[in-house]
Amino acid sequence: MRSIIKSISGVKDILPKDVKKWQLIEDKARALLEDYGFSEVRIPIIEKTDLFSRSIGESTDIVEKQMYTFLDRDGSSITLRPEGTAPVVRAYIEHSLYVKEPIQKLYYMGPMFRHERPQRGRLRQFYQIGAEVFGIKNPSVDVEILGLLIRYFEELKIEGLSLQINSLGCSRCRSPYVEEMKRYLKERYKELCEDCKRRWKKNPLRILDCKKERCQDIASRAPIILDFLCPECHRHFEGVKEEGASLNIPLEVNPRIVRGLDYYTKTAFEIVSQCLGAQNAVVAGGRFDDLVKALGGPDTPAIGFALGVERVVELLPGEGLDYGSPYLFIAPLGAEARKLATKIMSTVRPLKIKAEMEYEDKSLKAQMRRAHKLGARYVLIIGDEELKEGRGIFRDMSRKAQEDVPLDPFDRLIEELRERINNQGCPGQKNRK
Ligand SMILES: [Zn+2]
Ligand SMILES: [Zn+2]
Repeated sequence: MRSIIKSISGVKDILPKDVKKWQLIEDKARALLEDYGFSEVRIPIIEKTDLFSRSIGESTDIVEKQMYTFLDRDGSSITLRPEGTAPVVRAYIEHSLYVKEPIQKLYYMGPMFRHERPQRGRLRQFYQIGAEVFGIKNPSVDVEILGLLIRYFEELKIEGLSLQINSLGCSRCRSPYVEEMKRYLKERYKELCEDCKRRWKKNPLRILDCKKERCQDIASRAPIILDFLCPECHRHFEGVKEEGASLNIPLEVNPRIVRGLDYYTKTAFEIVSQCLGAQNAVVAGGRFDDLVKALGGPDTPAIGFALGVERVVELLPGEGLDYGSPYLFIAPLGAEARKLATKIMSTVRPLKIKAEMEYEDKSLKAQMRRAHKLGARYVLIIGDEELKEGRGIFRDMSRKAQEDVPLDPFDRLIEELRERINNQGCPGQKNRK
């Protein structure tokens, strides 16, 4: 036997037993985002390295240690995207989306790549669903996004989350804060880790998200940006809190949220779960009012978020959600019955009735076992005897009830199936709206 080739470290397959959860997470997000006026944008997985070093920031962990960067065959440096915001901003600028309409609401889904240590919840290829709003300065849009996220988790029946916000200020209020941080850190310089010593001069705020215990301890006692907000940033932050309260959005102010990327301004937020251990943020986001301009576009305020799909999968309840099981399983006995079953399947599928059947010569018992495993709600049994008599048996698995249905004329059979399945509600369709 030849040796087996396994997948690389920190990268994993998502197998059919889990894919239903993924599809549910993606479908709900897509439906909700479209309701809120967002449109999907599909951005490439590889980009020029400069895009990330210029936006995320040279002295951040992501750019310094985590990017998959390599030379292309022509010698240019390219990077597997470590996050989605910079590529979306690039696309917004490159295609002059702002010319037609400066206000754009865009969302994306897909894999991101970071060279992380593969510990719990830390993958090198991980998936995000993200959204960005361009062109709106008003705090109302910050609150709207938070409201959208809360509704999303309600629909997924995920509980135990808290929504934490902070303001990171703007370039104006940040410089006195940075000076103050430099002063504070200078006195503790010897205690800092090597990375932070290096960062101290260039970007002292990065020390706030250093993972080393010593640095975290120093960071926990450091001055906070909220004490340095300029009048405009202060007003904005108060606006978010007030409007959030009036819409009953439970916001917790957490002055320690800093985000590991340089481009954030003003509102920064995280949605955290107590159920996830150290990597407890399910969603992270905030404003990046200067980024469009910094990447060569017009001065355009923006805000967005990214949601970690693997973390949402971990939090999904085991029950109470429709994971898209087939509604109808057809159990034919004999070759003639199988022919009819194939015809029924190909007719009901376009009617949005999810159907599956048994293709092999199996006993009824074996077929019912498979229907059960698939989680089918209904089973249509077509036996040889019944076929001759022109009737099948329609079984409701959850109610454990069954009744006869006529097999011909064929149109009538389809009508009968449709009525029974739709009247009792197709869970998948009901959830879709
Ligand atoms: Zn400010
Ligand atoms: Zn450090």
